[in-house]
Amino acid sequence: MDKLRTLVAAAQFDICGGNCPTDKSPLNFITQAALPGGGSISLLKVLLTNVCVNDCGYCVNQIGRDIPRCSFQAEELAKLFIELHTKKLVQGLFLSSGIGQDASRTMQGMIKAIEILRYRHEFKGYIHLKILPGAGFDCVEAGCRLASRVSINIEAPTAPHLAKLSRKKDLLDGIVQRMRWVKQLRAKDDYIVPSGQTTQFVVGAAGETDLDILHTATSLYREMDLKRVYFSAFHPVKQSSLEGITPTPPMREHRLYQADWMLRVYKFSPADLELALDTSGNLSLGKDPKLTIAQKQPWLFPVDINKASYEEILRVPGIGPLVADRIIKTRREHSISSVQQLKKMKVDTTKAMPFIWFKGILDDERQLSFLPQLETQLEPILATHR
Ligand code: SF4
Repeated sequence: MDKLRTLVAAAQFDICGGNCPTDKSPLNFITQAALPGGGSISLLKVLLTNVCVNDCGYCVNQIGRDIPRCSFQAEELAKLFIELHTKKLVQGLFLSSGIGQDASRTMQGMIKAIEILRYRHEFKGYIHLKILPGAGFDCVEAGCRLASRVSINIEAPTAPHLAKLSRKKDLLDGIVQRMRWVKQLRAKDDYIVPSGQTTQFVVGAAGETDLDILHTATSLYREMDLKRVYFSAFHPVKQSSLEGITPTPPMREHRLYQADWMLRVYKFSPADLELALDTSGNLSLGKDPKLTIAQKQPWLFPVDINKASYEEILRVPGIGPLVADRIIKTRREHSISSVQQLKKMKVDTTKAMPFIWFKGILDDERQLSFLPQLETQLEPILATHR
């Protein structure tokens, strides 16, 4: 149990779509994570070992820190997981690790544990396997054949940024190349890692801007066919080279998730997203980026809620995909003609009303207090057309 507690605590910085140990668990090592297709799952999120030869300055497991170190044997971890699964305490496994001696040897231990689960215990449930930076192709391929989802953390948007965080990690050869292998393996065989691959950034430790992060995230979605990009606000770790760096506000992480959501789900273009950035290349901590973008594109609004396309409705602040769907379905039966109807459909009318129009709408219902700002923004555009 001591080993389990140590290796669960050491895994807390890996994000898997939810990430909080659930309070319901008497053992407090179960993570409730969002599933790729919706819903959630209780996971045992754990490391094979917290021994690590790397010196990543943001990580509790980096070499040289005076902390208790321990490792599971593959058999031991598999047995433990199956016991928890049989008792219905966990449904799936999220397995990561420090790099014990070298990445391939450590990954062989991780793969062995999963092979025992898949072949001996015939466990068919969800397994998320972390691919270790620098692991060989054979390990990546074997892991991809066993896991439901794999991930390899990129940590920083560029090689110079990563060099500020770790002296050993190599962004292009050690990390991006493994992503490419996963993509190539998936292209050859539909059954390989059915839930695809993801990655994670540490935010705010290397002096990178949100533009740097979003630029790399966009390229990775496009080039590596990633399913998700996760963001983890930096917290300084004691006895580390980054100990003196200011922690990143959680709101910065939240804004990046909002921007990522707009790219993936709302299908905003990277150029749209750049409108939400300030002159230093960062998202405002105080304002929803979707609202900023809408206010900078006044010519797109107000949208006629009874005629606009799904995509046009989705650009309105305060309206997400579920609500946009609801609006489209409702107006097939009858037109929308009141704020009350919108509220019933769960439109966030405080944010949405200035950007919406319907027949009979009253000026004070549209909350046009933002109009002077729009006029200021429109003036230079109108001037070029005069
Ligand atoms: S490789 Fe880096 S991030 Fe991973 S466990 Fe080791 S020190 Fe931590």
